[in-house]
Amino acid sequence: MLIVQKFGGTSVKDAERIHNVAKIITDAYHKGNDVVAVVSAQGDTTDDLIAKAAEINEKPSNREMDMLLASGEQISASLLAMCIQKLGCPAISLTGWQAGFLTSSAHTSARIRRVTPDRIKKELDQKKIVIVCGFQGLSRYDDITTLGRGGSDTSAVAIAAAMHADLCQIFTDVEGVYTADPRKVENAKKLKEISYDEMLELATLGAQVLNNRSVEMAKKYNIELEVLSSYTNTPGTIVKEKVKMEKMLISGVAKDTDVARLSITCVPDTPGMVFKLFSKLAQRNINVDVILQSVGRGDTKDIAFTVPKDKGREAEEICRRFKENVGAEEVDYNDNVAKVSIVGAGMESHAGVAAKMFEALYEKQINIRMIATSEIKVSVIIAKDDADRAVQAIHEKFFPVER
Ligand code: ASP
Ligand code: MG
Repeated sequence: MLIVQKFGGTSVKDAERIHNVAKIITDAYHKGNDVVAVVSAQGDTTDDLIAKAAEINEKPSNREMDMLLASGEQISASLLAMCIQKLGCPAISLTGWQAGFLTSSAHTSARIRRVTPDRIKKELDQKKIVIVCGFQGLSRYDDITTLGRGGSDTSAVAIAAAMHADLCQIFTDVEGVYTADPRKVENAKKLKEISYDEMLELATLGAQVLNNRSVEMAKKYNIELEVLSSYTNTPGTIVKEKVKMEKMLISGVAKDTDVARLSITCVPDTPGMVFKLFSKLAQRNINVDVILQSVGRGDTKDIAFTVPKDKGREAEEICRRFKENVGAEEVDYNDNVAKVSIVGAGMESHAGVAAKMFEALYEKQINIRMIATSEIKVSVIIAKDDADRAVQAIHEKFFPVER
């Protein structure tokens, strides 16, 4: 079998953890498998590198950021290879470019264009364990690129797809995908299986366990993923196309505090207003999420929407200019908000799922500022201080704690 194993930052954070990972890899190798391991940077390395850059230049160029950030994964990959060699197995570490990752040239958020794993194959043919630096690649201008935060998951899935791997395991510091963050929510349950679509929503809505692009890619190439812990030896969660319907209305509650909310009041109630505003945001690559437009009063309406927090101030600028241009009244910016969401394929066929969520919030006297829905999710925007309480209350509504 060809197995791709991905290890996140906490799984390789120090010598002891690296040793543990080396054991997991060599166990698979000794069973006769070809193993490609993809690694993230150790612990908080990427954050530390970002902080280092900020000390030097508060607006560093994206190209140099990629040059800097890619170094984190080279440290963990080389250390892991050394550790495996010490255990007596042949191993070699490869950078993203040696492993054949060709990406777009959008520095710090590059997209994988192609993976040409010739070198990986050559090394596997020589019975080596191959360790690949996640998160990085090369643009067609031969510049080092990175895939955006959490991008190593995507690197692993891309290799699994390009090499038609038999198994793609994502090792992390929790035992799988849970109905809510098990570190914070009492009674959170580990799921045996979850569909790509639900996992994609959960990942996008703030569940930290998998990067959403990696799930998108797994779905596209139909790569079954197993999410499991590098700390314990227990089966994890399988992410795949079709799952057995368990008797669950929802498969998870997620929280995202990386949100800023903007509102513009008294926008003229005429055609084209929303288009003008959102096309400006799109031009700047700002992803708009929850959108709310009020019923027109007289000849004006209010528009509110959310964006990722790091784009909040830029979006505010655009709103202010828009306000001047069209003669709206006021722009309000607020990043003291959070998005709390429930996700579940079960809501497609069951009424009252959203009501149940709203009831939980009502019982805790938590005010809802905005609501958004799709076939398989309901999201609410609430005050950030209420977020943890909200997640706990909603989770308890759907998964009552037996006392
Ligand atoms: N080291 C990168 C990050 O922290 C990539 C990853 O961990 O997947 O975002
Ligand atoms: Mg990570």
